Amino acid sequence: MSSVIYPKVALIGLGLIAGSMAHGMRRAGLAETISGYARSAETRAIAAEIGLVDEVCQSAAEACTDADLVVLAVPVGVMGKVAAEIAPALKPGAVVTDVGSVKQSVIADVAPHLPEGVHFIPGHPLAGTEHSGPRSGFAELFDNKWCILVAVEGSDQAEVEKLSRFWEALGSNVDVMDPAHHDLVLAVTSHAPHLIAYTMVGVADDLRRVTDSEVIKYSAAGFRDFTRIAASDPTMWRDVFLTNKAATLEILGRFTEELFALQRAIRTEDGEHLHDYFTRTRAIRRGIIDAGQDTDAPDFGRFKAKSDT
Ligand code: NAP
Repeated sequence: MSSVIYPKVALIGLGLIAGSMAHGMRRAGLAETISGYARSAETRAIAAEIGLVDEVCQSAAEACTDADLVVLAVPVGVMGKVAAEIAPALKPGAVVTDVGSVKQSVIADVAPHLPEGVHFIPGHPLAGTEHSGPRSGFAELFDNKWCILVAVEGSDQAEVEKLSRFWEALGSNVDVMDPAHHDLVLAVTSHAPHLIAYTMVGVADDLRRVTDSEVIKYSAAGFRDFTRIAASDPTMWRDVFLTNKAATLEILGRFTEELFALQRAIRTEDGEHLHDYFTRTRAIRRGIIDAGQDTDAPDFGRFKAKSDT
Protein backbone atom coordinates (compact mmCIF):
# COMPACT_ATOMS: atom_id res chain seq x y z
CA MET A 1 0.00 0.00 0.00
CA SER A 2 1.27 3.47 -0.85
CA SER A 3 2.53 5.58 2.03
CA VAL A 4 1.69 8.80 0.17
CA ILE A 5 -0.74 11.00 2.12
CA TYR A 6 -0.65 14.17 -0.01
CA PRO A 7 0.63 13.67 -3.59
CA LYS A 8 2.01 17.22 -3.84
CA VAL A 9 3.21 19.19 -0.82
CA ALA A 10 4.32 22.84 -1.07
CA LEU A 11 6.65 24.22 1.59
CA ILE A 12 6.63 28.01 1.84
CA GLY A 13 9.78 28.99 3.73
CA LEU A 14 12.76 26.62 3.54
CA GLY A 15 14.27 26.84 7.01
CA LEU A 16 14.65 24.49 9.97
CA ILE A 17 11.03 23.36 10.20
CA ALA A 18 10.25 23.11 6.47
CA GLY A 19 13.60 21.41 5.83
CA SER A 20 12.96 18.88 8.59
CA MET A 21 9.51 18.22 7.15
CA ALA A 22 11.04 17.63 3.70
CA HIS A 23 13.55 15.13 5.12
CA GLY A 24 10.84 13.49 7.24
CA MET A 25 8.42 13.21 4.30
CA ARG A 26 11.10 11.51 2.25
CA ARG A 27 12.00 9.15 5.08
CA ALA A 28 8.37 7.99 5.30
CA GLY A 29 7.43 8.41 1.61
CA LEU A 30 4.56 10.78 2.37
CA ALA A 31 4.53 12.77 -0.88
CA GLU A 32 5.21 12.20 -4.57
CA THR A 33 6.40 15.76 -5.17
CA ILE A 34 7.65 18.40 -2.73
CA SER A 35 7.84 21.95 -4.06
CA GLY A 36 9.33 24.84 -2.12
CA TYR A 37 9.89 28.56 -2.05
CA ALA A 38 11.84 30.94 0.19
CA ARG A 39 12.12 34.70 0.02
CA SER A 40 15.82 35.03 -0.79
CA ALA A 41 17.59 33.85 -3.92
CA GLU A 42 20.39 32.61 -1.66
CA THR A 43 18.16 30.23 0.29
CA ARG A 44 16.51 29.03 -2.93
CA ALA A 45 19.96 28.34 -4.44
CA ILE A 46 21.09 26.35 -1.38
CA ALA A 47 17.82 24.37 -1.37
CA ALA A 48 18.32 23.51 -5.05
CA GLU A 49 21.99 22.63 -4.52
CA ILE A 50 21.31 20.20 -1.66
CA GLY A 51 18.11 18.83 -3.25
CA LEU A 52 16.04 19.79 -0.21
CA VAL A 53 12.82 19.67 -2.26
CA ASP A 54 12.01 18.32 -5.73
CA GLU A 55 11.14 21.71 -7.24
CA VAL A 56 12.46 25.06 -6.02
CA CYS A 57 10.04 27.68 -7.35
CA GLN A 58 10.48 31.37 -8.08
CA SER A 59 7.31 32.45 -6.26
CA ALA A 60 5.15 31.16 -3.43
CA ALA A 61 2.14 31.00 -5.77
CA GLU A 62 4.07 28.87 -8.28
CA ALA A 63 5.05 26.42 -5.52
CA CYS A 64 1.39 26.08 -4.45
CA THR A 65 0.02 25.34 -7.92
CA ASP A 66 -1.69 21.93 -7.81
CA ALA A 67 -0.50 21.32 -4.23
CA ASP A 68 -2.67 19.07 -2.05
CA LEU A 69 -1.01 20.34 1.13
CA VAL A 70 0.52 23.80 1.58
CA VAL A 71 2.69 24.38 4.67
CA LEU A 72 3.39 27.97 5.72
CA ALA A 73 6.78 27.70 7.45
CA VAL A 74 7.75 31.38 7.59
CA PRO A 75 8.04 33.69 10.64
CA VAL A 76 4.68 34.37 12.28
CA GLY A 77 4.75 38.07 11.36
CA VAL A 78 4.63 37.41 7.59
CA MET A 79 2.06 34.57 7.49
CA GLY A 80 -0.74 36.94 6.39
CA LYS A 81 1.33 38.44 3.57
CA VAL A 82 2.29 34.98 2.29
CA ALA A 83 -1.33 33.78 2.50
CA ALA A 84 -2.40 36.73 0.30
CA GLU A 85 0.29 35.82 -2.26
CA ILE A 86 -0.69 32.15 -2.54
CA ALA A 87 -4.49 32.50 -2.33
CA PRO A 88 -5.13 32.76 -6.11
CA ALA A 89 -3.00 29.67 -6.80
CA LEU A 90 -4.67 27.29 -4.32
CA LYS A 91 -6.66 24.46 -5.85
CA PRO A 92 -10.13 23.65 -4.48
CA GLY A 93 -9.92 21.01 -1.74
CA ALA A 94 -6.30 21.84 -0.89
CA VAL A 95 -5.29 21.87 2.77
CA VAL A 96 -3.36 24.90 4.06
CA THR A 97 -1.55 24.50 7.36
CA ASP A 98 1.20 26.42 9.14
CA VAL A 99 3.86 25.64 11.73
CA GLY A 100 3.88 29.01 13.50
CA SER A 101 4.63 29.18 17.22
CA VAL A 102 1.57 31.39 17.89
CA LYS A 103 -1.93 30.46 16.78
CA GLN A 104 -4.51 33.23 17.38
CA SER A 105 -2.66 35.88 15.38
CA VAL A 106 -1.82 33.48 12.54
CA ILE A 107 -5.49 32.51 12.23
CA ALA A 108 -6.55 36.17 12.22
CA ASP A 109 -3.93 37.02 9.58
CA VAL A 110 -4.27 33.99 7.27
CA ALA A 111 -7.93 32.90 7.31
CA PRO A 112 -9.39 36.02 5.61
CA HIS A 113 -7.22 35.47 2.51
CA LEU A 114 -8.11 31.84 1.86
CA PRO A 115 -10.74 31.08 -0.80
CA GLU A 116 -13.87 28.98 -0.21
CA GLY A 117 -13.25 25.28 -0.66
CA VAL A 118 -9.74 25.37 0.81
CA HIS A 119 -9.30 23.74 4.24
CA PHE A 120 -7.31 25.75 6.77
CA ILE A 121 -5.94 23.66 9.65
CA PRO A 122 -3.31 25.57 11.67
CA GLY A 123 -0.59 23.55 13.38
CA HIS A 124 2.48 23.84 15.58
CA PRO A 125 5.15 21.17 15.95
CA LEU A 126 6.71 21.49 19.41
CA ALA A 127 10.17 20.71 18.16
CA GLY A 128 13.10 22.89 17.28
CA THR A 129 16.74 23.75 17.71
CA GLU A 130 18.57 27.06 17.88
CA HIS A 131 19.65 26.60 14.25
CA SER A 132 17.89 28.03 11.24
CA GLY A 133 18.13 28.08 7.47
CA PRO A 134 17.89 25.51 4.65
CA ARG A 135 20.79 23.37 5.88
CA SER A 136 19.57 23.03 9.47
CA GLY A 137 16.73 20.52 9.05
CA PHE A 138 16.85 16.79 9.79
CA ALA A 139 14.30 13.97 9.51
CA GLU A 140 14.34 13.04 13.22
CA LEU A 141 13.38 16.50 14.50
CA PHE A 142 9.73 15.57 15.06
CA ASP A 143 10.28 12.04 16.39
CA ASN A 144 8.41 11.58 19.65
CA LYS A 145 7.61 15.29 19.89
CA TRP A 146 4.14 16.80 20.11
CA CYS A 147 2.42 18.52 17.23
CA ILE A 148 -0.61 20.60 18.11
CA LEU A 149 -3.33 21.02 15.49
CA VAL A 150 -5.90 23.74 15.93
CA ALA A 151 -9.40 23.21 14.63
CA VAL A 152 -10.86 26.48 13.36
CA GLU A 153 -14.56 27.14 12.77
CA GLY A 154 -15.92 24.86 10.08
CA SER A 155 -12.84 22.59 10.01
CA ASP A 156 -13.55 19.39 8.12
CA GLN A 157 -13.03 16.57 10.61
CA ALA A 158 -11.84 14.13 7.93
CA GLU A 159 -9.17 16.63 6.83
CA VAL A 160 -8.06 17.20 10.44
CA GLU A 161 -7.67 13.43 10.82
CA LYS A 162 -5.70 13.20 7.57
CA LEU A 163 -3.32 15.97 8.67
CA SER A 164 -2.95 14.20 12.04
CA ARG A 165 -1.93 11.03 10.20
CA PHE A 166 0.62 13.06 8.22
CA TRP A 167 2.22 14.43 11.42
CA GLU A 168 2.17 10.99 13.03
CA ALA A 169 3.97 9.62 9.96
CA LEU A 170 6.59 12.37 10.52
CA GLY A 171 7.13 10.88 13.98
CA SER A 172 4.98 13.18 16.12
CA ASN A 173 2.25 12.66 18.66
CA VAL A 174 -0.73 14.83 17.77
CA ASP A 175 -3.09 16.81 20.02
CA VAL A 176 -5.92 19.12 19.03
CA MET A 177 -6.39 22.32 21.03
CA ASP A 178 -8.22 25.62 20.73
CA PRO A 179 -6.08 28.58 19.67
CA ALA A 180 -6.33 30.68 22.87
CA HIS A 181 -5.41 27.71 25.02
CA HIS A 182 -2.48 26.91 22.73
CA ASP A 183 -1.13 30.44 23.07
CA LEU A 184 -1.39 30.37 26.88
CA VAL A 185 0.22 26.94 27.18
CA LEU A 186 3.08 27.99 24.91
CA ALA A 187 3.55 31.27 26.78
CA VAL A 188 4.18 29.19 29.93
CA THR A 189 6.23 26.39 28.44
CA SER A 190 8.22 28.14 25.74
CA HIS A 191 7.78 31.87 25.20
CA ALA A 192 8.35 33.18 28.74
CA PRO A 193 11.28 30.76 29.34
CA HIS A 194 12.90 31.98 26.13
CA LEU A 195 12.57 35.59 27.27
CA ILE A 196 14.11 34.69 30.62
CA ALA A 197 17.02 32.94 28.85
CA TYR A 198 17.53 35.99 26.62
CA THR A 199 17.59 38.15 29.76
CA MET A 200 20.03 35.94 31.69
CA VAL A 201 22.48 35.89 28.79
CA GLY A 202 22.03 39.64 28.29
CA VAL A 203 22.77 40.27 31.98
CA ALA A 204 25.87 38.08 31.89
CA ASP A 205 26.98 39.93 28.78
CA ASP A 206 26.43 43.28 30.52
CA LEU A 207 28.67 42.03 33.32
CA ARG A 208 31.17 41.10 30.60
CA ARG A 209 31.21 37.56 31.92
CA VAL A 210 29.48 35.60 29.20
CA THR A 211 32.58 34.58 27.28
CA ASP A 212 34.69 34.47 30.41
CA SER A 213 36.21 30.99 30.33
CA GLU A 214 35.24 30.40 33.96
CA VAL A 215 31.56 31.06 33.28
CA ILE A 216 31.50 28.57 30.43
CA LYS A 217 33.78 26.06 32.14
CA TYR A 218 31.73 25.83 35.32
CA SER A 219 28.26 26.40 33.90
CA ALA A 220 27.47 22.70 33.17
CA ALA A 221 23.99 22.42 31.69
CA GLY A 222 22.47 25.48 33.39
CA PHE A 223 23.92 28.65 31.93
CA ARG A 224 25.11 26.90 28.77
CA ASP A 225 21.52 25.83 28.06
CA PHE A 226 20.46 29.47 28.43
CA THR A 227 23.06 30.54 25.86
CA ARG A 228 21.81 27.87 23.47
CA ILE A 229 18.21 29.04 23.82
CA ALA A 230 19.29 32.67 23.53
CA ALA A 231 20.96 31.86 20.20
CA SER A 232 17.57 31.17 18.61
CA ASP A 233 16.53 33.06 15.50
CA PRO A 234 15.93 36.77 16.34
CA THR A 235 13.24 37.31 13.67
CA MET A 236 11.24 34.29 14.74
CA TRP A 237 11.33 35.26 18.42
CA ARG A 238 10.63 38.94 17.84
CA ASP A 239 7.48 37.87 15.99
CA VAL A 240 6.49 35.36 18.68
CA PHE A 241 6.52 38.04 21.41
CA LEU A 242 4.78 40.66 19.27
CA THR A 243 2.02 38.24 18.30
CA ASN A 244 1.55 36.36 21.58
CA LYS A 245 1.65 39.58 23.55
CA ALA A 246 -1.27 39.13 25.95
CA ALA A 247 -0.45 35.59 27.11
CA THR A 248 3.29 36.27 27.41
CA LEU A 249 2.73 39.47 29.40
CA GLU A 250 0.32 37.65 31.71
CA ILE A 251 2.90 34.95 32.47
CA LEU A 252 5.75 37.44 32.81
CA GLY A 253 3.62 39.50 35.24
CA ARG A 254 3.22 36.46 37.47
CA PHE A 255 6.87 35.57 37.06
CA THR A 256 7.92 39.04 38.20
CA GLU A 257 5.69 38.80 41.29
CA GLU A 258 7.19 35.44 42.24
CA LEU A 259 10.68 36.74 41.61
CA PHE A 260 10.05 39.70 43.90
CA ALA A 261 8.75 37.32 46.60
CA LEU A 262 11.90 35.19 46.32
CA GLN A 263 14.07 38.32 46.33
CA ARG A 264 12.35 39.43 49.53
CA ALA A 265 12.77 35.98 51.10
CA ILE A 266 16.51 36.12 50.44
CA ARG A 267 16.80 39.66 51.80
CA THR A 268 14.83 38.83 54.96
CA GLU A 269 16.54 35.45 55.26
CA ASP A 270 13.20 33.67 55.13
CA GLY A 271 14.66 30.19 54.61
CA GLU A 272 11.30 28.52 55.11
CA HIS A 273 9.81 30.37 52.15
CA LEU A 274 12.76 29.39 49.94
CA HIS A 275 12.69 25.77 51.09
CA ASP A 276 8.92 25.43 50.57
CA TYR A 277 9.17 26.99 47.14
CA PHE A 278 12.00 24.74 46.00
CA THR A 279 10.21 21.66 47.39
CA ARG A 280 7.17 22.52 45.26
CA THR A 281 9.26 23.03 42.10
CA ARG A 282 11.14 19.80 42.69
CA ALA A 283 7.82 17.93 42.74
CA ILE A 284 6.93 19.53 39.39
CA ARG A 285 10.16 18.21 37.89
CA ARG A 286 9.33 14.72 39.23
CA GLY A 287 5.94 14.96 37.55
CA ILE A 288 7.56 15.78 34.19
CA ILE A 289 9.85 12.75 34.45
CA ASP A 290 6.97 10.50 35.55
CA ALA A 291 4.99 11.68 32.51
CA GLY A 292 7.88 10.53 30.28
CA GLN A 293 8.64 14.05 29.05
CA ASP A 294 12.28 14.08 30.15
CA THR A 295 14.95 11.78 31.49
CA ASP A 296 16.39 11.54 34.96
CA ALA A 297 19.95 11.35 33.56
CA PRO A 298 22.38 13.72 35.30
CA ASP A 299 23.00 15.62 32.04
CA PHE A 300 19.22 15.71 31.33
CA GLY A 301 19.98 13.39 28.39
CA ARG A 302 21.19 16.46 26.50
CA PHE A 303 24.35 14.84 25.12
CA LYS A 304 22.35 12.10 23.46
CA ALA A 305 19.60 14.34 22.08
CA LYS A 306 20.26 16.03 18.75
CA SER A 307 17.44 18.47 19.38
CA ASP A 308 15.44 19.88 22.20
CA THR A 309 11.93 21.29 22.18
P1 NAP B 1 13.99 29.63 9.63
O1 NAP B 1 14.91 28.46 9.68
O2 NAP B 1 14.52 30.99 9.92
O3 NAP B 1 13.26 29.67 8.20
C1 NAP B 1 12.31 30.65 7.86
C2 NAP B 1 12.09 30.58 6.37
O4 NAP B 1 11.07 31.52 6.02
C3 NAP B 1 13.33 30.94 5.55
O5 NAP B 1 13.45 30.03 4.47
C4 NAP B 1 12.98 32.33 5.02
O6 NAP B 1 13.56 32.61 3.78
C5 NAP B 1 11.49 32.20 4.86
N1 NAP B 1 10.79 33.49 4.77
C6 NAP B 1 10.85 34.54 5.60
N2 NAP B 1 10.03 35.51 5.16
C7 NAP B 1 9.46 35.06 4.02
C8 NAP B 1 8.54 35.59 3.08
N3 NAP B 1 8.01 36.81 3.23
N4 NAP B 1 8.19 34.82 2.01
C9 NAP B 1 8.70 33.59 1.84
N5 NAP B 1 9.59 33.03 2.68
C10 NAP B 1 9.95 33.77 3.76
O7 NAP B 1 12.74 29.44 10.62
P2 NAP B 1 12.07 28.14 11.25
O8 NAP B 1 12.74 27.84 12.54
O9 NAP B 1 11.93 27.08 10.22
O10 NAP B 1 10.65 28.75 11.63
C11 NAP B 1 9.58 28.79 10.73
C12 NAP B 1 8.27 28.86 11.50
O11 NAP B 1 8.22 27.73 12.37
C13 NAP B 1 8.10 30.10 12.36
O12 NAP B 1 6.78 30.56 12.25
C14 NAP B 1 8.33 29.60 13.78
O13 NAP B 1 7.55 30.31 14.71
C15 NAP B 1 7.89 28.15 13.67
N6 NAP B 1 8.54 27.23 14.61
C16 NAP B 1 9.88 27.31 14.86
C17 NAP B 1 10.48 26.45 15.77
C18 NAP B 1 11.95 26.54 16.09
O14 NAP B 1 12.37 26.11 17.15
N7 NAP B 1 12.76 27.07 15.21
C19 NAP B 1 9.70 25.45 16.40
C20 NAP B 1 8.35 25.34 16.07
C21 NAP B 1 7.78 26.24 15.19
P3 NAP B 1 15.05 33.26 3.68
O15 NAP B 1 16.00 32.18 4.12
O16 NAP B 1 15.15 33.55 2.23
O17 NAP B 1 15.05 34.46 4.56
